Parts: sequence; C-alpha cells; structure tokens
Amino acid sequence: MSQSCSIINCTRTSRGLCDCCQQYLCLQHLTEHNNLLISQLNPLTDEINTLADRLSRLNVQKIIADSRQKLEQWREDCYKKIDCLFEQKCQELNQLINEKIGQQREELNRIHVKMAELINAQETTRQDIDLLTSTIRQFSTNINNIEQTCFTINIRSLLIDDTLVCIKETTEKELDLSILSPVYRTIHRPERSFRSLTGNDRYLLIHQHPNLCLFDREINIVKQALWSYDAIQDMCWSSTLDRFIVLGKNNIYFIDEYTMSIENVQRIKKQDWGSCTCSDTVLFACTNEWGSSIMEFELFPAIDMIKEWKYPFTCAKDETICDTTCPSILASIDQLFFRSYHNVRCLYLSN
Ligand SMILES: [Zn+2]
Ligand SMILES: [Zn+2]
Repeated sequence: MSQSCSIINCTRTSRGLCDCCQQYLCLQHLTEHNNLLISQLNPLTDEINTLADRLSRLNVQKIIADSRQKLEQWREDCYKKIDCLFEQKCQELNQLINEKIGQQREELNRIHVKMAELINAQETTRQDIDLLTSTIRQFSTNINNIEQTCFTINIRSLLIDDTLVCIKETTEKELDLSILSPVYRTIHRPERSFRSLTGNDRYLLIHQHPNLCLFDREINIVKQALWSYDAIQDMCWSSTLDRFIVLGKNNIYFIDEYTMSIENVQRIKKQDWGSCTCSDTVLFACTNEWGSSIMEFELFPAIDMIKEWKYPFTCAKDETICDTTCPSILASIDQLFFRSYHNVRCLYLSN
C-alpha cells in the first residue's frame, strides 16, 4: 500500500524519504526540499571563502610574538648566567697569578732594602755577598716559575636539557592547570601558627609556632626567630626598606631577612590592625573594626602616616576589610585593592 506525502494538506503519494527532514514526501515536495538545500550552499560558500581569506592573512609573527619574547628573555637570562660565571672564573685566575706576583714583589723589596743598607754602610762581608747571591738566584728561579706558570682548567661542557623549555598550547579562556607543577613539598603547620604568609624573590616568610621562619625555594627553613609578640594579622615585603613588615594585632614590626632581627616600630600609634600591603614606596594598613580605615604610611626616610581613608569610602559601616593588595604588576598605575565581606574595591592612589 502506497503512503501519502507527509506534508499537511498534500494528498500526493510519497515517492521517497527526504534526506533533510526524514519524512516521506511526494515528488514535488522532494524537489522543493532539494532546492531549499541547494540554496543553502551559497552562503556556506561565502563563509568558507571568508575563512580561507582569514587563514591566508594570519599574522604568524603576531601570534607567536609574546611566546617568542619569553624565549628571548630566557635566552638573555641564560647568557647572563654564563657571563657571570665567566667573569667570576676570570677573577679567580687573576687572583691566583697576582698572589704569586705579590709575593715576589715583597721579596724584591726585601732584597732592595738589604742592598741599600750594604751600599749605604759601604761595608760588606764575603758572607753577605754569598747570601745575596743565593737569594738573587732563588729570586730568579721564582720569576722563571711564574713565567712558566700553567693552570689546569677542567671544563665540563654545558649540558643543555631540552626540557628546560616546554612549549604547550593554551587557549586564553581556559588555563590548563596540568601545566602547573605538582605539589613539591608540604610544610606542616604546628597548632597556634598564625595564618599569614608572604615572600620576596628569595624567601617565603611564615609563622610556624612558636617561630617566624624563612623558607628557601626548596622549602627548607633557612632562618628562624622566636616570635614572642602580638598575634600576627598580616605580613608583606617592602623592597624599599629591604625588610618584611609584620602587622601584629596592635603593633607593626620590621623583620630583617639577613639577621632575623625584629624591630617593633614605635613611631606608629597602636591600632587594632587587620591587613596590610606595600607598594614600591608606601605601606597600607587597614584597621580590624566595623567600618575599617585604611592608613597610608610613607616608609622612607622614616615611617610616617601620610593619609587615612575612612568608611563609607573604604567599606560599609557593618563590614571590615579582610584583605588588601597592591599588585606589583599594576604598581605603575598605583592601585590599591581591598576586600570586605561584600565587595572588592579599588582605590586610584594618584587621585
Ligand atoms: Zn525534507
Ligand atoms: Zn507532497
């Protein structure tokens, strides 16, 4: 039994299954659907031509520019390391030979003095002459030795590992977490350790009850000092002072990374402190209270408050500021970011 066309109100017999709509259609409707499909080819042709055009115009140099810049920076840094080692070894070499020459200069002085004494006195003995002759012979041998000095330089050629540089594609939208290094080591935090941490380009500073500790890149404790002061609220690094700044519950402290000495900064009025951050030149410290204030301190030549911001400019009356940062990448435009419970705000410091 023949089936009728699936199109409503069409009474004609179906002649086949239409490829586009998966319905049984009559010849007319099959043709209609076919023409409709063919008409869709034109815009597709236009689109593929446009894409072909874009492909041919792709600026390869522009696409790889940033990555290439990173590779060039890496090359520069490596060259610098080699230059630095080269300079160091040249100095070692100079020092070795100069020490030998220095000794002979001293010897020469002694001989000069001795001869001058004898000439001045216009009196000498056979024994003096023999002694001088043998001293001068020895001196001559020493000079010969220096002239023929050889150094053995053992050099291992530089092994360059291909995996020093790995190139992997990432799209801008999704940062591939797998390219981040896996956890290397874990630092166990004893109970009652304060939660803040900060670092500079050499060390990580954290409180490991009862000490304030500096960790190196391999996560080994390098230095530590007993922390017997108030609770640590926040910490940051100041490149201007070359010191870590620790914000205690009520006091501000400077920590010297070389000596681990802790200086309680007496110039600053006691406050109920909450969080802090440093820009190139100043310290920002926020109070830990409803409607926190932000205080700006200049660091050089001495630490002094230069400005204070209060609520509602900082946060709402029923909020406190929990975190503050002055990202160094943005330091040139002087922005201070601070987070309260509901908002992150940005202060433009140049205004
Ligand atoms: Zn169809
Ligand atoms: Zn039909």
